[in-house]
Amino acid sequence: MAEPEVYMQRIRDMGFEDGLKIRAENIDEAKQSIKECRMYQKDLRQTKKLINLDMKEIRARYRDEIAGAGEGRKAVFSLLGSKGLGTSMRAEAKREKRNERDSILEPYNTLKALIDGLVTDIDRAKIQLQTFIDEERAEEESLKYAEPVTDIYCSNCNAKLDKNDKFCRECGQVLQP
Ligand SMILES: [Zn+2]
Repeated sequence: MAEPEVYMQRIRDMGFEDGLKIRAENIDEAKQSIKECRMYQKDLRQTKKLINLDMKEIRARYRDEIAGAGEGRKAVFSLLGSKGLGTSMRAEAKREKRNERDSILEPYNTLKALIDGLVTDIDRAKIQLQTFIDEERAEEESLKYAEPVTDIYCSNCNAKLDKNDKFCRECGQVLQP
């Protein structure tokens, strides 16, 4: 059982205060970043699990309190012969207890929403990193099989030339060997 601020600090410690920053200038860095993303998500999901347990505990604690709320008041008003008023006082007491419980649960719900948002952002980042890796690999492959660039052009008219040409087929410029 921990205070919401403890969980908030835990999320801050992961380095998400200024949003998710991802650095990947090459495939190895991208792979490393994907690994880190998975660790962050695991940690966030674990934190959410703890928050859910805390919320369950808070609800359980309040279940009895709400059930017993206003019993004392009822007794007093019953003695005064005003049973109807006692009942409504008891309903009011239960409502107050429920509100108290909900205000305690609220920051935990806010944390859960924050965690869900971060997990979604990290999913998006993982896709971007994988796309980057795929593109880098495709580029490496295309470079591996590409013909070396040996195109030559006429210095006079810029027409494309064959390397064995003695003169330009477009403008007749005599070509130096
Ligand atoms: Zn030419």
